[in-house]
Amino acid sequence: MPGLLERYRPYLPVTPQTPLLSLSEGSTPLIHAPRLSEHLGVELHLKYEGLNPTGSFKDRGMVVAVAKAAEAGADTVICASTGNTSAAAAAYASRAGLRCIVLIPDGNIALGKLAQAVAYGAQIVAVRGNFDEALHLVREISEQRPIALVNSVNPHRLQGQKTAAFELVDELGAAPDILALPVGNAGNISAYWMGFREYLSAGQMETLPRMWGFQASGAAPLARGLDRVEQPETLATAIRIGAPASAHLARAAVQESGGLFDHVSDDEIMAAYHLVAREGVFCEPASAAPVAGLLKLHAEGRLSPGQRVVAVLTGNGLKDPGSAMRAVQAPAAVDATMNAVLASLA
Ligand SMILES: *Cc1c(COP(=O)(O)O)cnc(C)c1O
Repeated sequence: MPGLLERYRPYLPVTPQTPLLSLSEGSTPLIHAPRLSEHLGVELHLKYEGLNPTGSFKDRGMVVAVAKAAEAGADTVICASTGNTSAAAAAYASRAGLRCIVLIPDGNIALGKLAQAVAYGAQIVAVRGNFDEALHLVREISEQRPIALVNSVNPHRLQGQKTAAFELVDELGAAPDILALPVGNAGNISAYWMGFREYLSAGQMETLPRMWGFQASGAAPLARGLDRVEQPETLATAIRIGAPASAHLARAAVQESGGLFDHVSDDEIMAAYHLVAREGVFCEPASAAPVAGLLKLHAEGRLSPGQRVVAVLTGNGLKDPGSAMRAVQAPAAVDATMNAVLASLA
């Protein structure tokens, strides 16, 4: 499978000098969810971004950001991350032969994500502070040193991420009625909106979807109409963000599309997380937020029946096995006999 830089080259900032970096990212499956569709009264598809090379949609933006950094002659990239950005940055930097520095908020990272960044060879610095403080620091460092910043404030990230919108339209033959996705720094919702509008201008589609962005209740500045939340809290670590870097773009996307922001509690997120898994699709907690949001709006009578809805499952459940295991008892061991096994199942 060609990577995104080749597949969507005419829509991306690719010049003859841009290295065609690729880990075969993108081209992720769009999976119909029959049980959730029936429950919600809509046609629900899950865009399973957890099947990207490092297990999240972050690969889409990172392949462009790192390729452009290499093109510009950088030898080091830096980012602040709650996990998935660091895994993607580390993988693509290694692939491109660049050094990667990652600042993480101390103690707030899902282990699977940190393990990836370590394995891909990034240099990791845990700072005593939250994500927003870590982002502030890497911005400062990249302004004062010849180091390329690859957080989503880097415009190449959104350029790469918009390709997910193209894939949806290429596969469905049209835009969905509603695109539902989790919102943290709000880069992804902004990128999808940019992608849809570009595809509309290019004559590849005829109608735009409504953009529905869901935040965790403990980290919901956009849904609550605030500039920032001082101490963001949620078990969905990928969206534990108090001051979204792309807030203005995201507000415009929701406003222009006639969409909405809403927020869902951690309990609602985990309930949705289990329902998605029962469809045979394992996502991380943050990725279940849009499904939780659809369930909430359905319960409130705000989801009109019959619509075609896509929920973006931004990351793979294996990133954060701790969240899956917290909900269950560890299985008790039984004797290795058929009777004991059958008895334990009774
Ligand atoms: C980064 C991330 C998000 C949030 O995306 P933003 O662009 O920051 O809004 C949601 N889910 C997962 C799994 C992520 O890695």
